[in-house]
Amino acid sequence: MTDYDAIIVGAGHNGLAAGVVLAKAGMRVLCLERTGHAGGMAATRELFKGFKHNVGAWALIVLHEDVRKLLELEEYGLELITPQTSFCVFGAPGDPPFVVHNDLGRMMEHLMNDHGADALQGSMDLFAYLQVFGGVMNAQRFKPPDSMDAIIAEAPDAQTREILLTCLHGSAMDVLRKFFPDPNRHRCITGSFAAGAIDGTHMGPYTPGSALSLAYHHTASGTHNAFQMARGGIGSVSDALLRSFEKHGGKVQYRAEVRRMLLRHGLVAGVELRTGDTISSQVVLCSLDARTTFMDLVGEEHLPSAFAHAVKEIEYTNGYIQIHLTLKELPEYTGDLAFANENNIRWLMNYIPSPEHLSRCWEQYRRNQVPDDPVAYCYIPSLVDPSYAPPGYHICTFFSHYFPAELSPAEHNQKKQVMAERVIGQIAKRAPNFRDAIIDQAVLTHEYFGSKYGITGGDFCHGLLHPGQMFQRRPVPGWSNYQAPLQNLYMCGAGCHPGPGVTCVPGYNAAQEVLKRAGG
Ligand SMILES: Cc1cc2nc3c(=O)[nH]c(=O)nc-3n(C[C@H](O)[C@H](O)[C@H](O)COP(=O)(O)OP(=O)(O)OC[C@H]3O[C@@H](n4cnc5c(N)ncnc54)[C@H](O)[C@@H]3O)c2cc1C
Repeated sequence: MTDYDAIIVGAGHNGLAAGVVLAKAGMRVLCLERTGHAGGMAATRELFKGFKHNVGAWALIVLHEDVRKLLELEEYGLELITPQTSFCVFGAPGDPPFVVHNDLGRMMEHLMNDHGADALQGSMDLFAYLQVFGGVMNAQRFKPPDSMDAIIAEAPDAQTREILLTCLHGSAMDVLRKFFPDPNRHRCITGSFAAGAIDGTHMGPYTPGSALSLAYHHTASGTHNAFQMARGGIGSVSDALLRSFEKHGGKVQYRAEVRRMLLRHGLVAGVELRTGDTISSQVVLCSLDARTTFMDLVGEEHLPSAFAHAVKEIEYTNGYIQIHLTLKELPEYTGDLAFANENNIRWLMNYIPSPEHLSRCWEQYRRNQVPDDPVAYCYIPSLVDPSYAPPGYHICTFFSHYFPAELSPAEHNQKKQVMAERVIGQIAKRAPNFRDAIIDQAVLTHEYFGSKYGITGGDFCHGLLHPGQMFQRRPVPGWSNYQAPLQNLYMCGAGCHPGPGVTCVPGYNAAQEVLKRAGG
């Protein structure tokens, strides 16, 4: 008899989602986690005494209502908050900021009054266009996916086929310029969509293929496009999963790093920990990215060469910076941005002047340079949920794309300070009290997330959101059914279909495949 029915490697939210499904089905499940906490890159932790930060992920933009119900997240303590606005995007002085109100009526009013009838029409048409891709996501979400070719071939008419082809292979700007044709107008609106499109890619907004990330980000959640927050921090998603997992008999062992898969007669039979201890199980589900799973934990010599080659080809280059601050007072915006001092707006202020601006940042990043005028997302969740900070104080997190990904360690450390200074400066220029309001700061990059959570290149997607790496090609072509070329081994992390972000779906789907193979 094996020690466990199933071992799960990694207690990120996907590993835990898989664990919940298997434990509920009556399996004896052990989850092994190398750090001292659950949630992986979507954890909420105390970086500074008395304050909490969402260390990696912070917005619930791709969590689908159906998976929340299937995993009973609310029953196990998850509480969602939908702020009045999702975010405000600002740019050059004189360009009207784009405020995303979560009330549809207010949103339409803002577009009509502040941006004009063509912006309102363009936004509605863009959403209708992206929903064609949304239909595909809905049909493919909870199963091993079909190939992109099959999806396109089965489109009901030529127009749908054309839209899908553009979403799968075109650039974000191919899509956006259909609805916002004048590059000199609506720059904050198009900048905002373009920034969403390059998230999780190694692309600029004009790069062919970037439309896929645009479509993914606007359709993965299924029913809404609003930023949602989990009360108490994004780690509450994993806390809810953990409660359910443990209630159904699952066990988590922390500070338990898996060093390699145990193979017996060519089958996976358990794992060996860094300590040398071995644990046997019927199946192993691994929530790490494919490169780490197969090259480090399995070993190339145990894999078919074509599969090993495909794993080595996966693109993980994803350079970014995240800066966590504690604040003794809120930024006070001046001039054109004084309207943002309303708390419902200043909780998330994004500097994204235009797609062309973003494209210039991309060009600098490709040359391994720090963008001289980086885009910046400035997020103050304690304005919406006071549990993040002691009374009278706030926390703040900045995120910015395009921190150079290929630097020597010395250059990396020097340039991350330069980038942090420039990113913080985007708010300090518009809110003169901001620098003095900062008490503490921690500057993290892809390099931190890579070494802390064992992910290749610090790529939070576990394999970028590129057309060659989605649907039937995720994580590698032909292996999108959560299985591996070694019997008893499954993949269950963000590197699997349908893709990255806090979705719980790869973990949920992988566990369903295990149950199917085990005969229910
Ligand atoms: C800066 C940043 C911002 C982000 N923003 C958002 C956002 O706003 N919204 C959103 O939806 N997503 C966001 N993401 C992406 C999101 O966090 C990830 O896609 C998601 O958390 C992946 O979940 P996972 O469970 O698949 O993997 P992970 O979270 O990577 O979990 C894997 C787990 O495995 C553990 N592990 C690694 N190696 C071993 C080993 N050898 N043995 C045992 N355990 C091991 C790790 O410690 C980790 O806990 C962001 C990520 C980052 C880094």
